[in-house]
Amino acid sequence: MSAENMGPFRADGRRRSPEEIQKKVAKELGVVPLVGFEKLVSCSGGVKENHGFVAGFMEAHGARSWSLPLEEGESIVWETAPVPQDLPSVSEVVFLFSMGMGNGSPLPQPSGEFELSLNGERQLSFRVVKYGENWEGPGNTRLRFEVKRVESCPPGQTLALDDVIREESFAAFGVGALKVPLSLLRVGERARIRVSARSRVTSKRWFKLDNSDDVLSKANIYTGLRVLVNGEERLKVGDYGVYFGDLHTHSGDGSEGFGRCGVGTIDENYRYARDVSNLDLYALTDHDWQTDEKYWRRCMDKVEEYDRPGEFVTLPAFEWTSSMYGHRNVYYREPVDAFFDARRTPRGRDSDYWETEVDDPEDLWSKLDELPTEAITIPHHPKASSHPLTWDFFNPRYDRLAEIYSSWGTHEYENNPYRGSGSDHYSHLYLREALDRGLRFGFLASSDGHDGHPGNAQSPESKHHHIYHHLGSGRVGVLAEELTRSAVFEALYERRCYATTGPPIIIDFRLGGRMMGGELKREDVGSSYRLRYSVTVPAFLERVDLIRDGAVVKSHSFVERKSCFKVEHLEEVDEENSTYYYVRVIQSDGEMAWSSPIFIN
Ligand SMILES: [Zn+2]
Ligand SMILES: [Zn+2]
Repeated sequence: MSAENMGPFRADGRRRSPEEIQKKVAKELGVVPLVGFEKLVSCSGGVKENHGFVAGFMEAHGARSWSLPLEEGESIVWETAPVPQDLPSVSEVVFLFSMGMGNGSPLPQPSGEFELSLNGERQLSFRVVKYGENWEGPGNTRLRFEVKRVESCPPGQTLALDDVIREESFAAFGVGALKVPLSLLRVGERARIRVSARSRVTSKRWFKLDNSDDVLSKANIYTGLRVLVNGEERLKVGDYGVYFGDLHTHSGDGSEGFGRCGVGTIDENYRYARDVSNLDLYALTDHDWQTDEKYWRRCMDKVEEYDRPGEFVTLPAFEWTSSMYGHRNVYYREPVDAFFDARRTPRGRDSDYWETEVDDPEDLWSKLDELPTEAITIPHHPKASSHPLTWDFFNPRYDRLAEIYSSWGTHEYENNPYRGSGSDHYSHLYLREALDRGLRFGFLASSDGHDGHPGNAQSPESKHHHIYHHLGSGRVGVLAEELTRSAVFEALYERRCYATTGPPIIIDFRLGGRMMGGELKREDVGSSYRLRYSVTVPAFLERVDLIRDGAVVKSHSFVERKSCFKVEHLEEVDEENSTYYYVRVIQSDGEMAWSSPIFIN
C-alpha cells in the first residue's frame, strides 16, 4: 500500500481527461481502460439495493450500490459502456468498476466463491480478499481487485457500514479491473457482466457493486493496472523464490462406506486451491480413516494430474490421525503406494501390501523408513483438548516442522493476545514448550480446512468452532529454488519456510549466515554472530519481535505507516545453553507471521 504511482493518470499537476488517460495507458501498457459499469440489468431476489453513503472507495454520496450475498443462485448482472469504434491498436481492453467485498458477520465465515461471466460465458472465479489479487480464466480474461480501503474490526466487535451492510468483521473497497481480449467483444456494443455466488457451505460474505460511473475519471490505479497486465511480481529471499501454500486440508470425498470429513470432491478442492485461492502449493491430507487402497490410488492420481512444475505444485500426503498420540500429517517426496492407519482395529483389507495398523509414532516412522521415497511428518493442533499431541514422541529426522497456526488458532504459546488460544486447550502442549524442551522443528501454517475452500478455509461452523480468522486460515511461505515438488520438499525438509495467518507476508531471517530453519555450531561463530531480518507486508506493520529461547529480546514497534522493515545487529554468544531464535511479525490488522527458528548448538 505504498503511495499510488499516478503514471499516465496525472500530468502537470492536473488529472488527465479520460480520453488522454486511455491513450497514455494504451501506449504504456497496451490495453485501453473503459468504463466498466453503466447500467444495472438485473439482480436476483437476495441482492439488496442501497442508496449507501458507503459507496465503494470514492465515497460517492447519493450513488446506488448493490450487495450480492454469497448464497447459491444469487446473481447481479450489469452492462459496461459500449466498446468504442476508434480504439488505439490494442488487443485487450480493461473494464473498470467500483466494487467492494466483505464478511457480513462478526464471526469468520467460509469465503466461498463468486463466478464472473462475460456475455453469457463463464470466465473466472474469485474470492473475498482484503489485499489486491489477480484471477485468471481459461479464456484469457483476468480480474484484479485493487483494494483502496479496508475497514476491519477485532474479533468479537462489529462494523456497521450502511443500512444494508451491518455487523461486519471487515470490508474492502476498491476498483475491479477486468481485462478482456477484444476477440470476446463486439465493437460498438456493451459487454454484459454477471457475478454469481457459489457457496458449498453457509456463509455471510458478500460482493458489492457501485454505480459510480467515474472510476476512469477519479481513481488512480496505475499500479493496479500494471499488476493486472504484467502479473504479480514474484518476490525473492536471497536466491530463493517465495511460494505460498496450504498443506493441510480435507475433502468431502473418501472411500465408499467410510465417514466423510470435509466438503467438496477432490477435484473441487484442487480447483479452488489453484484457481480461486491462487496457491503455489497444495496438499490434500484426507484422514487415514477416510482412506482405503482404492481411494489412496485416486488421491495419488490426482496429485500427479494437478502437479504443474513452475505453476502449481502438489504434494502426496495424508493425515495420520491418532487419538492416542496426536495427529501428524505425512508428506512424501513422490507418490507412493502406502498410507498408514493410526487406528488399533484393522478393517480387514484384502491386500498384504497395504498396512492396516500402525500403533504409535515410532511404529509410523519405522514404516516410513522402509519406503522407497522420503517422508516428513508434521504434528499439528498439539494443544487442542479434543486432539492433543504428546511431545514424548518426537523424531528429528521426520518431525521437521510443526503447524504453528491453523483454523484451530495459534499454537505458539498460551495466551498469545493476537490470535487467541481458544477456550479448550492444554497449556503445556504449545510449540514454545516443546522448543524449550530442546525439540527442534521449523514452523508452518495451513488451514486444516474442512469447508472445500483450501487456502481460504474457515471450516463449517458445525464442524469446528475454534475459528479465529477473518480471511483464510494460515499459509506456509516456502523458500525454494524453484516451484517443483522436489525443490519444495527439500525446502520443507530444511525448514526453509515460515507461517502466516493468511496474508502474503515475506520474511527473510538469517543468523551467522544461515537461513531460517538452519543450525549453527557455537564454535563456528566466535564470540558473536550477525543477526539479520527483513519483512515486507501487504498492509502496515505494528510490531516485529525477535524471540530467543521463548522470550522477546528485541521488539520493534511502528507508529508511522510502514510496510517494509530491515534490521541487522550482532548477538553475543550464550556459552551456557542451547539456543533458538525466531522472528514474529504482527500487522496493524492483527494478521501475523512467524519465521522458522534458527538453532545454535
Ligand atoms: Zn488433525
Ligand atoms: Zn486435519
